[in-house]
Amino acid sequence: MRSTMMDRPLLLDDILERAGAQFPDVEIVTNMPDKTLHRQTYGDMVRRAKQLAQALTQAGIKPGDRVATFSWNTHAHLEAYFGIPITGAVLHTLNLRLPPDDVSWIVNHAEDRILIIDDVLLPLYEKFADRVNFERIIVVPLAGKPIPEGMESYEDFLASADGEFVYPDKDENDACGMCYTSGTTGKPKGVVYSHRSTVLHAMTAAMPDTLNLSFNDTVLPVVPMFHVNAWGIPYVATLTGAKQVYPGPHMDPESLLDVYAAERVNTTAGVPTIWMGILEALDAEPDRWALRDDLSMIVGGSAAPESMIRRFDGHGLTVIQAWGMTETSPLGSAARLKPAVTARSEDERYAKRATAGVAVPFVEVRIVGDDGNPQPWNGEDMGEIQIRGPWITGSYFRLDNSDEKFTTDGWLRTGDIATVDADGYIDITDRTKDVIKSGGEWISSVQLENAIMAHDAVAEAAVVAQPDDKWGERPLAAVVLRKGETLDADTLRAFLLERMAKWMVPDDYVFIDAIPRTSTGKFSKLDLRKQLLDTA
Ligand code: ADP
Repeated sequence: MRSTMMDRPLLLDDILERAGAQFPDVEIVTNMPDKTLHRQTYGDMVRRAKQLAQALTQAGIKPGDRVATFSWNTHAHLEAYFGIPITGAVLHTLNLRLPPDDVSWIVNHAEDRILIIDDVLLPLYEKFADRVNFERIIVVPLAGKPIPEGMESYEDFLASADGEFVYPDKDENDACGMCYTSGTTGKPKGVVYSHRSTVLHAMTAAMPDTLNLSFNDTVLPVVPMFHVNAWGIPYVATLTGAKQVYPGPHMDPESLLDVYAAERVNTTAGVPTIWMGILEALDAEPDRWALRDDLSMIVGGSAAPESMIRRFDGHGLTVIQAWGMTETSPLGSAARLKPAVTARSEDERYAKRATAGVAVPFVEVRIVGDDGNPQPWNGEDMGEIQIRGPWITGSYFRLDNSDEKFTTDGWLRTGDIATVDADGYIDITDRTKDVIKSGGEWISSVQLENAIMAHDAVAEAAVVAQPDDKWGERPLAAVVLRKGETLDADTLRAFLLERMAKWMVPDDYVFIDAIPRTSTGKFSKLDLRKQLLDTA
């Protein structure tokens, strides 16, 4: 029997229209290049997003065409987040931290027609300009720099439209956005999101046990809008009517803390390396910033060490870990405590908060062992996380030979190794390519890193496999000390021997100034391996 319900598509159009009607006076704030705070309202944002949509349509952009952005997290980028998809076109956010050759490859592979770029990023664009061919380049005058010959001002482009935009009909499965993986192995792969997947993802992300966002909140995504749609936060915030604050180009700890305090931010999100910097700043000057005492920091992208979660608690700030990837929109799981866990000891609560958490609604998770069988949820048996759901990609854009990323029964192979415990908490022990295979046993680099970072003198640590004649591979630990601290390898080794099995503890340690980062701010094991193993 068919239901009596209306068959209405799930579209970003409705999120935008409702925001304009319900939250016209709620603010959207951006920290501009000169550090002044630019303010506009949802009313302004909706009007300008529709002007952008109309101007793009007048420029000949048709449904399915790709329009690229090369931008920091700003109010103008938010306008593009809606203005491009409501025309039926596809928002393609370019990662400005990728090498220029990768960016040009991605632009050409996606066949982007128009580029919207921040004026402060034009010098970066120049590095690949000769390898791409945009029809038009629209420059957002963030710093008021002169618009180069042959390009046009974003403000003039908007002014060319009277704002009487008429939404074209769309199917909820039409593409609305795309993002390429950063391609640490092989060429970047394009993931294409739909209106439906983005709306459903936003609704689930807003839930209390996930990101917990509502119109009572003020949110600042540190995670870049060029990386998996800033984890969908601009859409979640606009859906719920939360006040939005954008850091612009200022991603350093002090600038972020200044804005958290000035704008009364209570939810923020980013990769652990950002929070490590913030911790250092807070440890050095604990009373400098008047932060909200309900500030939560959503951490994802790589494992958040338990020691970091504890240290933030010491400053009255709550870390919530989440897990996901470009292919998963990205939200797959979040580590909020179920009541049964809340009732347990403090150590158990911390241990759970240091996991990737429980799968969010509609994301099915299985852990598949070497024998190809799903593993029991006992917190011990490891396997690869495989997932499926309405916002998980089932293929890559124009890539035929990606079979190894999908199982024959329709699940995405994430390449992450994990256990799931009896409470349903997923604990990521490694990525398949980072696990250390020592004498037939698997050593989790994540577990080692967390143990090393639990030492008070340590700011950061990353562990990679180094070839070993006897064991095949052994762990090699790269350690960055906190300012003013000293520590030697023997002391650190003794510290680890008290905490884990002897065969897991690294014999070799190098003390370095900084761990190399990827284009998304995570530790780059690839670069670290090159740096250490070529010179070791
Ligand atoms: P990539 O880093 O490959 O460019 P993504 O940014 O999509 O691509 O990263 C996805 C990966 O990040 C996941 O497969 C996982 O290895 C890692 N990751 C994300 N969140 C967490 C987390 N909370 N704990 C551990 N690893 C995580």
